[in-house]
Amino acid sequence: MNTLKRRQAQATHTRAGLALAAAFSEAAAEPPRSPALALQRAARHSAAAQKATTKAAQATPKSPVRSAMATRAVQATQVTQASKAPAQAGVTTRAAQALASSIPQPGHALVDADLNDCLHTYEQRVRGRFAAVLDVLRTLSSCQHERDFAAQAQALALQKLGFELPTDWLANAWVAGVDMAALHAHCLFQTVAQSVQQAGFDQSCWRARMPIGPQQWRDWGYHTLDFSPCADGRLQALLPFILRTTPAAHVWVKAYAGALFDVEHDVADWTQRELERLTGAIEGGAQLDYLKVAVYHYSSSAPCEQGCAAHSSQDEQAVQAAIERLVALQMAVDNTFGLGAAPQVLLIGVDTDCDAIRIHLPDASGQIQRTRFLDSAALYRSTLGMAAGKALQTVQQALQRHVAELGGLAAKGNEAGMAALAQAWLIANFSQIEYVNRHHAGRYAVIGHDEAFVCAGEAVPLLHLRNQFYFAHLDTVEEGAADLDVGARIFQGLNVQRGLALPVLVHFTYDARVPGARARAVQRGLRVAQAIRARFAELAERGLLHCRVAVSERQAGSMLEWAEHAVLAAAH
Ligand SMILES: [Zn+2]
Repeated sequence: MNTLKRRQAQATHTRAGLALAAAFSEAAAEPPRSPALALQRAARHSAAAQKATTKAAQATPKSPVRSAMATRAVQATQVTQASKAPAQAGVTTRAAQALASSIPQPGHALVDADLNDCLHTYEQRVRGRFAAVLDVLRTLSSCQHERDFAAQAQALALQKLGFELPTDWLANAWVAGVDMAALHAHCLFQTVAQSVQQAGFDQSCWRARMPIGPQQWRDWGYHTLDFSPCADGRLQALLPFILRTTPAAHVWVKAYAGALFDVEHDVADWTQRELERLTGAIEGGAQLDYLKVAVYHYSSSAPCEQGCAAHSSQDEQAVQAAIERLVALQMAVDNTFGLGAAPQVLLIGVDTDCDAIRIHLPDASGQIQRTRFLDSAALYRSTLGMAAGKALQTVQQALQRHVAELGGLAAKGNEAGMAALAQAWLIANFSQIEYVNRHHAGRYAVIGHDEAFVCAGEAVPLLHLRNQFYFAHLDTVEEGAADLDVGARIFQGLNVQRGLALPVLVHFTYDARVPGARARAVQRGLRVAQAIRARFAELAERGLLHCRVAVSERQAGSMLEWAEHAVLAAAH
């Protein structure tokens, strides 16, 4: 037996039985072989779940800006119109009762209203920066032939945007006007950099209140959360908004069109973390595992038009394709490193109209089924108006019933941990449902695409906003071609048809501990930028492609560093 297999056998023994029995007695699969460890685990799961939900429950009465209860009740019930997802886990009747009730009720007892306030302030602040770009450019457009245009433009940019514009672009404006497409892209990129630089301040409020952080997912048995959402901009607020999960060092977001993640890359990522775990680089690693989460999306109100573009808005296809990737990843690891080595997997669906989620858990045989899931919108409706304790109990019971129907969970002995994480995400998402109710009338005004730019390469770790950018995770343009093509098609409608460019920010991270890593990241970025220009040559020739390369240090990540020579002004 090799080291890895031995580790798997040991890990399975220590995780089995009692931990699950403590929280989900009906779903327990096998007796404990190490009762002491299993009991410790069960206690941790229980304490962590309690902590996360108590935090949410306690938050409700604090917010000074919450509106009157009756108003909240109207907003809270808006989700019933916003989601047409089929109710799951036996909540249909209760949901219908909640819908039928005409008695005004307060907001949901498990919602963290203060956290919602923090997130709203963040959203307003960052969106305000991007909105200012358009305002300034409109003003500049109307005065670009005036004698002191350059001075006026710089003064306005400094005042409204906080940065200067390229002097030589302004100097000759009186001859043929300013290249507004180029200026627009330039300002967008500067605004991204500015938002990254100020993220520490912008995000401090909500980061301090996130219910699901590193300690929680460690308590639930995971050292790494590896998400692959669709590249669609509507999923780019996945962590802090939709899942209320802290963006942290080992929470990876690798987005691909249609959530069709790269299996080989994931095997490599898993292998690296497994090596770190086996060499003791991950504290408490013997008890922890790697969780892969694929995230598909759908539109409850316009399923045939505003679903996943990569799957032609065919929801069934989007779900099935994501399941197949998860199965492929598990098979790849099992076949390469030995049966049982594969990471744990989960599937999440997001209704991009209102940010409600579906969680598909793997059944006892390891299968994730397309039509079996827990639906946060249905659970939210069914528990609306209940006291916090009762609402929590109802969610727990729904989850236990669901797990029992699945015959248990395939979680390598960590059933209780996986269930606790699923429960935490469902309850955390209640806050996002109420956020959309309150600030977006229960459904986003723009349910389709509205991204400002494309990010290619690795995610900008400090920018989290719905529909702010389309994100294609790639190392080379060849491997990410399909994702970029989808992005370019989207921007054909958003920007190009009205004369604005396709702005592409190429971003890679580097590890400062590795000699030469920064220079190599810059070179990779430049190669990708050149390949993008070649792939979209027709746009580039028309001056409608603007591509800029930035890198950031992986651990610190506090600022974007521009590879200035990589400015590919397509008009040249
Ligand atoms: Zn999609």
